[in-house]
This record gives sequence, structure tokens and C-alpha cells, in this order.
Amino acid sequence: MIVILQADIAEDSPEYRQVLDYLRHKPNISTRVHREIGAIRTVTEIYVIGDTMTLDQAEVESLPGVERVVRISEDFRVVGRHLNDPRASGFEYHGVRFDQDNLNVFAGLCAVDTPAHVERMMKALRDHGQVCTRMGAYKPRTNPYSFQGHGKACLPWVFELAGKHGIQVIAMEITHDSHLDEIREALEKTGKPTGVMLQIGTRNTQNFELLKAVGRQSEFPILLKRGFGITLEESINAAEYVASEGNHKIIFGLRGMKTNMGDPHRNFVDFAHVPVVRRLTRMPVCIDPSHSVGSRDGSPEGIPDVFHVTAQGVIAGANMILVDFHPAPTQALVDGPQALTLEELPWFLEDVRIARAAYEQRRALAAKR
Ligand code: PEP
Ligand code: MN
Repeated sequence: MIVILQADIAEDSPEYRQVLDYLRHKPNISTRVHREIGAIRTVTEIYVIGDTMTLDQAEVESLPGVERVVRISEDFRVVGRHLNDPRASGFEYHGVRFDQDNLNVFAGLCAVDTPAHVERMMKALRDHGQVCTRMGAYKPRTNPYSFQGHGKACLPWVFELAGKHGIQVIAMEITHDSHLDEIREALEKTGKPTGVMLQIGTRNTQNFELLKAVGRQSEFPILLKRGFGITLEESINAAEYVASEGNHKIIFGLRGMKTNMGDPHRNFVDFAHVPVVRRLTRMPVCIDPSHSVGSRDGSPEGIPDVFHVTAQGVIAGANMILVDFHPAPTQALVDGPQALTLEELPWFLEDVRIARAAYEQRRALAAKR
């Protein structure tokens, strides 16, 4: 059960105390308070866990200070979409809105390599009206002898270049909770010229201690990638791990499943799950066409498969695209074969625009019924 209190209720108000006391005196019930301090208002939600069927919903709703009570029957207490659930979906971060109704593109380098390449990428993004990017500094690699990223050494100059080119949010994978401190420190040192979205990669989807660590902080939003060899439900539970620690700013990322049934694609594209995640949860849904497809191959008319699967996700309502680009793919230190070129950026963005317009038309058509 979620007890939603009236907006802007103070923690030291008698109403707030009374609701908590009421709940805390009930047997086999525990509570966890989540306060979201927004620009316009502060929302307070009390997550009630345990034997909630014994609680009288009308009685709780009649307590002073209570706006609404939502009964949650299933799992995914925080991230789930429940019946008559008025909680807003999505969030704003560093001036960019993320929700289930809009679409943001994060084109960029799978792995940061040279300042010249990073700058060319960011300049191209700015020239095409983009304010988000992806930049990997910590790369989990299958082979221990492969390049694992420049780590904290590159953070200051990457953040400075982002600021110089008006990039507001960088999606950046972390593989250890110490990376969180390194990112925080580099942002402080450079005067916070940009924002960072912490990416949890598919190899860490069930690294529960890492999930709890990123969930305990609320400064940075999280892009949680689906685990490549576990069920969708297990991956959504991983998002719930983050949320249960207090950070509700989570985007759920689809990136394909590991099976040779998807050959010749690198992973079996799973973007048919875009509407499923939007139905089951309130999280914005990201698609990663690059790690799904894994190559620059295309269809006979000359459209790369990366474009095709992007369109498939976008036409189904995806809210974010994480896609690999590189100014010189043959020189990329990680995942060059799947990177699109800067010359292809305007083409890609226009193709996305076409798919998004089709989604909006489909949505309008459904609304007429
Ligand atoms: C990545 O986005 O660079 C990455 C490693 O993705 P994934 O975790 O989906 O393999
Ligand atoms: Mn990669």
C-alpha cells in the first residue's frame, strides 16, 4: 500500500506525525517514507509493507494530511504501474525531462578515447540540436586484456568538453560504487558543467550491492539495462532494488538478449518489450539498438539494421535511444564495428523523427476509439 500525503506537508507537522503513528501502531506493518523534493512541490509517499490487507483503506484515507491511498497487489511496489495510481511518471534532470511520453536521444562514444574524438562528437551533437550523449569511461570487458576505459583520468576533460558544447546529460556506465565518488569529485572539480546519468550495464543488472549503492543516492538518475540472460520480471525487480533504496529516477533499458537465435545480430532484439515495460511500470523505456545489432550491416535499400531496430522501438513508444557513434569507427577502442559515423548523425535523427511521428499518429488514432 502507498499512502500519498498532501503536497508540501512538513515532516514536523502534526498531520504527518499522526499518519505515521497510526501506521506504526498496526501489527505486522512497516513503513518507508519517500520524499521527492521538486522545483514546484514536495511529494511525500509512505510505502506500507507487510500485512496491509488488515488495514482499512477508507480509514487511512480519512486521516488528516492524506491525499490518496493506492493498494498495490503485485510486485514492483515502487516502479510498478498500479490501479488508480496517480503518481507522476518520470523526472527532470539537469534541465532535461524524462518520462513515458517523450523521447531523448543519447548518441555518443561507447568508450571515451581521445579528447579530439570526444570534442568532434560533442560538436556534431550540438550542431544537430542534441543536449545528451553517451560516453563510457568504465568499460566491463569479456576479455581481461581488452581496453577497460580511461576511468577517472578522463572525467574532468570529458565534463569540460560537455559543458563547452552545451551537453546537459552524459549516460556513463559505472561498474563499482567507488566510480560514483570519482564522478562526483570530477564534477565538483570542474564546476558541474554537465549532468551524469549512471548506467548499470547488462552484466551488473543483478549486482545487488551496486544497485543498492546507486539507489541510496538521489543526485544522479539511473539507466538500468536489462540483464541479457534473465527474465524481464527479474530485470524489473532489479530496478525495484534501486527504487526501494530511495532513488526513483530510473530509466529501464532494453539492449537485446544473449542467444544465438538472434544471429547474425549480436543480441536478439527485444524491443517488442517497449510497450510491456511501459504497461507494467512507470519508468521511461530506453532502447539500445547498437548493442542489440552489433554491426553496421543494412538492408538492400541501404538502411542500416541499427536504424531499423531503432525505428521499431520508437514506433512502439520508446522514450530514450542510447546509440553508438564515432568520428572514426575503425579507430574506436571498443565496439567500432557497430558505431555510426558523424556524417550519418543527421540521417539517423531524421529517421528517428519519422518513426516518432508515426508513433504519435498511432497514439492519436488509438485515442479516437
Ligand atoms: C554499453 O552500453 O556500452 C554496454 C556495455 O552495454 P551493455 O551493458 O548493454 O552490454
Ligand atoms: Mn559497447
